[in-house]
Amino acid sequence: MGRVLITGGAGFLGSHLCERLVAAGHDIICLDNFFTSQKSNVAHLLDKPNFELIRHDITQPVWLEVDEVYNLACPAAPGHYQYNPIKTIKTSVMGAINVLGMAKRCRAKVLQASTSEVYGDPEIHPQTESYRGSVNPIGPRACYDEGKRAAESLFMDYKRMNGVNIRIVRIFNTYGPHMHPYDGRVVSNFIRQALSGEDITIFGNGEQTRSFCYRDDLVEGLLRMMDAPDDFTGPVNLGNPDEFSIRQLADLVLEITGSASSLVNKDLPIDDPIRRQPDISLAKEALSWSPATCLREGLQQTIDWFRTIDWSNYRPPTPNY
Ligand code: NAD
Ligand code: UDP
Repeated sequence: MGRVLITGGAGFLGSHLCERLVAAGHDIICLDNFFTSQKSNVAHLLDKPNFELIRHDITQPVWLEVDEVYNLACPAAPGHYQYNPIKTIKTSVMGAINVLGMAKRCRAKVLQASTSEVYGDPEIHPQTESYRGSVNPIGPRACYDEGKRAAESLFMDYKRMNGVNIRIVRIFNTYGPHMHPYDGRVVSNFIRQALSGEDITIFGNGEQTRSFCYRDDLVEGLLRMMDAPDDFTGPVNLGNPDEFSIRQLADLVLEITGSASSLVNKDLPIDDPIRRQPDISLAKEALSWSPATCLREGLQQTIDWFRTIDWSNYRPPTPNY
């Protein structure tokens, strides 16, 4: 069983990845600065002999001996990553340099959690890995999009220059239990609003689309990519190709929760992508992976979890971050 470092391991995706790898018997080091998460996401793992939690900021070097690294540390929700955009790009770029330097020294395999945002507001649909993207480099989303693009470039250069064993996955909108209820992402917002009887806030006319992947499916894709043959570095898209308009998502959340909340329209944020859908042919072929959970089923699980938590235990990003 390997020693595995998960940066951002206390977050939404990271905490589920920790659970899966702890259960499989690996030695897990979860590293996080808790900017967008809290210890409660991994509290149930703390008494396991094969789980360690380190509070650390990945913009600072880290010295550990591990066999595999999943690099997930980075705020992912637009409200979170735009809160301190300079810190966001530092986290992507310096975080990549720090994990790659460590992987080079201890010959670890290292997987980068990249994003569909590298495609920006895409001109081709659905998005294939060969598409180079349409990102506004000076807009409010650039701290995240360009940070992730620079990280991909660093990963490829460490492979070409130093032979580091890398993998890059481009994750499309993923949702599920352990999302931060105040992260401002569309699924968490709509569920929280529906359950509390607040208005459901549709940005723009709601005709923009996203393709929503359930957490368990996505984490299965991460595990398969880490275990893929060394000559398959990616980038590979991971996401659910079922495409929905934001308006359709709102209707489905209202139906499943039985909420009487009203739909209200707000301004569409700057540079908000109009359409997004992954082409997952490569993941199907190279990883034998495709998502198994439909949106209705995944939303039901997520809503059930939102009903069990005390929202007052979740805080917004800390102001002195
Ligand atoms: P999340 O915000 O729940 O998790 C990110 C984790 O990283 C948090 O625990 C946060 O505290 C930690 N973190 C942030 N900055 C850090 C720093 N400087 N040092 C150490 N830890 C830090 O988000 P998530 O949805 O779980 O996303 C995980 C990864 O997957 C991110 O890299 C994100 O960009 C990527 N991703 C997620 C999605 C999605 O839809 N969930 C889509 C595309 C890409
Ligand atoms: N959105 C919305 N209402 C909300 C939050 C988000 O209509 O309360 C829209 C947002 O404008 C975008 C889509 O939902 O078009 C997905 O937003 P999210 O922040 O979840 O992720 P993105 O894919 O934009 O990074």
